[in-house]
Amino acid sequence: MTKISTQLSAVHERMHAACRAAGRPPEAVALLAVSKTFGADAVQAAFEAGQTAFGENYIQEAVEKISALKHLPLVWHCIGPLQSNKTRLVAEHFDWVHTVDRLKIAQRLSEQRPVGLRPLQVCIQVNVDAGPTKAGVPPDQALVLAQAVAGLPRLQLRGLMCIPEPASDHATACQVFERARALLTDLNAQGLKLDTLSMGMSADLEAAIASGSTLVRVGSAIFGTRHYPA
Ligand SMILES: *Cc1c(COP(=O)(O)O)cnc(C)c1O
Repeated sequence: MTKISTQLSAVHERMHAACRAAGRPPEAVALLAVSKTFGADAVQAAFEAGQTAFGENYIQEAVEKISALKHLPLVWHCIGPLQSNKTRLVAEHFDWVHTVDRLKIAQRLSEQRPVGLRPLQVCIQVNVDAGPTKAGVPPDQALVLAQAVAGLPRLQLRGLMCIPEPASDHATACQVFERARALLTDLNAQGLKLDTLSMGMSADLEAAIASGSTLVRVGSAIFGTRHYPA
């Protein structure tokens, strides 16, 4: 077993234990392996250990990896901040985007999504804890944005994503994640059909799963410590 396959198994164990504790079936929560800063070799090792969904933050870095691994049946999720000048690359190369928080960005993604590809799968990022510098739509504006995004032809709105500030304990983390779950329930009560709650990372996936996450985004627990270029 490689180090990555061992760590991937350990993450699956944590997810299963969290599902058991929450009375949820293990297949209720999927794993997104966050491979930012790691090379195509690391992604390939995780794929050989059974992982097919990968998350990336930096568009240029991601596009190189996606091209290098074109021969593998991988699903790529963009989980980094989105600027207008990067939407075309995202629309052309990714399967999912988690970080839509403005209609203008969603409109560009829809216009730029090539017709030969299935609609881009989209989550709206919500700022559930009113973090000062963080991206994400305020919860009270999520319904209006979700209804507009759901109407765009080349996108399929799947759900909500959040990145709360790290909490000091499990109960506090759960309280914040529960706001995202409650918002998803509200949006569905308004007629939307959302099935995805993208929340939970290496440090807090248990709290996220206890609070209804359907997709945890895990990087360092699988690939190790990240080193950013200076
Ligand atoms: C980097 C990143 C992750 C993974 O974080 P880890 O703590 O390494 O698991 C998850 N989500 C987003 C949006 C990220 O940028």
